Amino acid sequence: MSAPTPDATFSARLDRVRSTMEAADLDVLMLSVGADLPWLTGYHAMALERLTMLVVPRDGDATMLVPRLEVPRVVPRPDVFAVEGWDETDDPIARVVELAGPARSVAIGDQTWARFVVDLMPHFGQATWRRGSDVLGPLRAVKDAPEIAALRRAAEAVDRVAAELQGGQIPVIGRTEAEVSADLGRRILAEGHEKVNFAIVAAGANASSPHHHPGSRVIEPGEIILCDFGGTLVEDDGVGYCSDISRCVYTGEPPAEFRELWDVLQDAQARAVEAATVGTPAEAVDAVARDLIAAGGYDGYFIHRIGHGIGVEAHEDPYLVAGNDVPLVAGNAFSVEPGIYVPGRWGARIEDIVVATDDGPMPLNRASHDLAVVDA
Ligand code: ZN
Ligand code: ZN
Ligand code: ZN
Repeated sequence: MSAPTPDATFSARLDRVRSTMEAADLDVLMLSVGADLPWLTGYHAMALERLTMLVVPRDGDATMLVPRLEVPRVVPRPDVFAVEGWDETDDPIARVVELAGPARSVAIGDQTWARFVVDLMPHFGQATWRRGSDVLGPLRAVKDAPEIAALRRAAEAVDRVAAELQGGQIPVIGRTEAEVSADLGRRILAEGHEKVNFAIVAAGANASSPHHHPGSRVIEPGEIILCDFGGTLVEDDGVGYCSDISRCVYTGEPPAEFRELWDVLQDAQARAVEAATVGTPAEAVDAVARDLIAAGGYDGYFIHRIGHGIGVEAHEDPYLVAGNDVPLVAGNAFSVEPGIYVPGRWGARIEDIVVATDDGPMPLNRASHDLAVVDA
């Protein structure tokens, strides 16, 4: 079987969007900047003050309204949507209202700028407004085979960077966190990503801050370095898929106390991955790791949810967090990333991207989970 053409893929997605709109009794969907638009059309809107908006009336044709000067950027897909340019002196809001037609219920992309939402709302009278993610979140959360292949390519790319870090090919001692972060970023791009989404490098006590911003602190011998990095790898159809991995290295032989922490964390991460089977509530995956970390003596030191969905966005549905009892389904792709953070002392995290499949959880990242010791 040959791979579906991009047009067939996007047409199929638009069909699913329309079915969802029908079920949710939505009259029109409007998408602007953000990841929903590329997922549905292959086109990334420029995040500027000129409006780009795909208007999908429930029963009418989809039209992408684009600033005239940006029309050449759009790959035409006439089977999926029409493209219409607006001139500098036109009123794009008025045109969106025309394209939408009368509507009692409107869904608009979550990341649409408030300036456009504020201008649009009065034109729809008493209509109810919904988040675009109500329509697209559940659809985007279930990846098809080409999407899983794309996530795998992105994961393999950062795995190679992680292996360089763990193998000591990326010098760390004597450099600042910011320098190592920039180095990781360059390697992420060299591995084929179009952009770097983040490259956290946190040394010593900074590793107890899960989202530490890498700064001027110089990395010394005898400390933990937590690295969490990822980017977006763009496929041929114009849609980018994200990578996200966390690994730690120790500059020199770690103390026994840290080895113990690592053993608890490594076991918790592995057990949580094993637990991420189809039908398991998302929150149960979190609980597996949280209970093991507490039993290992670190109750209260795992201060974030265990994971997030990943796809065209680095964070998307499903969220693996206490309170989300929605069962995992085949095609869900998400991070499993428990951490242990001892304030003022040190911290560690292990993160893989995992896909739930009917044959069991399938981790996409393969870089070693062992605590790497580096001496340079
Ligand atoms: Zn994070
Ligand atoms: Zn991460
Ligand atoms: Zn993550």
